Amino acid sequence: MDHKKEDKNICINCEERLTDIHNLHNLTKEEQELLNRPKRVLTVSIPVRMDDGEVKVFNGYRVQYNNALGPTKGGIRYHEDVDLEEVKVLAFLMSLKTALAGIPFGGAKGGIEVNPDELSKGELERLTRGFVKEIYKFIGPHLDIPAPDVNTNAQIMAWFVDEYSDIVGEFTPGVVTGKPLILGGSEGRELATSLGGAFVLKRFVENFGDKKENLSVAIQGFGNVGMNIAKILDDWGYKVVAVSNSRGGIFDQNGINIKDLIEKMADTRDFPSGFGKEISNDDLLLLDVDVLIPAALSNQITKDNADEIKAKIILEMANAPITKEADQILEKNNVEVIPDILANAGGVIVSYLEWVQNSENYYWKEKEVNEKLKEIIESAFDKVMNLRKEKDLNNIRNASYILAVNRILEAERLRGTLG
Ligand code: NAD
Repeated sequence: MDHKKEDKNICINCEERLTDIHNLHNLTKEEQELLNRPKRVLTVSIPVRMDDGEVKVFNGYRVQYNNALGPTKGGIRYHEDVDLEEVKVLAFLMSLKTALAGIPFGGAKGGIEVNPDELSKGELERLTRGFVKEIYKFIGPHLDIPAPDVNTNAQIMAWFVDEYSDIVGEFTPGVVTGKPLILGGSEGRELATSLGGAFVLKRFVENFGDKKENLSVAIQGFGNVGMNIAKILDDWGYKVVAVSNSRGGIFDQNGINIKDLIEKMADTRDFPSGFGKEISNDDLLLLDVDVLIPAALSNQITKDNADEIKAKIILEMANAPITKEADQILEKNNVEVIPDILANAGGVIVSYLEWVQNSENYYWKEKEVNEKLKEIIESAFDKVMNLRKEKDLNNIRNASYILAVNRILEAERLRGTLG
């Protein structure tokens, strides 16, 4: 479209992602116009008094993409490469993720251009409080609810709650999720993303997989998500044959002893010897396994390696680990991809449960949280698979996008925004 050059609000990358849906689903022009742009984009400057007495000014962003289904929800990252266009895309994906999960939230994302490793704890706290001062009018439990993301954590959320509560004059834990337990965090939040992914994989295998037992799994990334999903799947009887982190990986075709490995890795980031032969990250992706789980970075499976992937199922725990061209190659090769907005929705689902507990000021045990997570994510998965069957769609990603977009558009129509 020719508006791209002048229209600063449009999210070009979101528009591209919606093209497939438009082709399959015939979105009207108004629907496309509405979905191609964020509802609200905030750009703020945050002056921070550094430890040496100098004032440094940081750029911060918050994009509230779509709020038809409820208050917007999404993480805040601290990274020197934070870029507004990328934040828009991530906020768009959050809108789809919450809609798909069927939770009463819209989607948002935010970030500050900063390398937090270069800041002292005090500077990090002042930066966080400064950011809250700039955006407090636009966030709140019924407006927009941030959460941790890359390089942000429960401590940063605690400062968020404190600053926001001071400004509005009352304790407001529901303004963010991912808080420490003692300040209104939820049991189960730490494991939620991995557990949600494991529930989805299990359901897929039980209902649609040819082979049900002793499936072999390779996992790229051994951080919060990768390590926890390795542990859960190992407990459930899957055979985790390969894992990796940024320094490389290990492979044992008879299965790695995950419990021992995690124990041994408590004080080192390197994989200890004796657990499998060393492999590179590139090799891990190409292993002949039943299930491949990218749980590290974006753009890991591209047109250059997609044709060589031997896994039959890919569970996208990282955000956007497969490029669009690679997706087409995998589909041609009958590799089933369970997309990020479904596979890794466990985190935002338990964030929703945290927010509900904050609203009631009544807190559940981990078992109860996990049961609710299971019910919500399996219900979303079943709806996606039903839609795929009903519309005879080639892949799970398109079915997920269509379901999510339909929910948003239905809410927009009922609210009167669309005719
Ligand atoms: P993390 O920082 O805890 O772990 C990332 C892991 O990836 C580390 O083991 C790191 O060594 C590894 N890694 C980095 N570069 C690598 C490379 N080139 N090759 C292989 N491994 C590499 O992060 P996380 O919280 O586990 O998140 C992982 C992914 O899951 C990210 O894409 C994140 O956006 C996504 N995600 C996380 C959550 C959550 O709740 N944590 C929710 C949704 C999506």
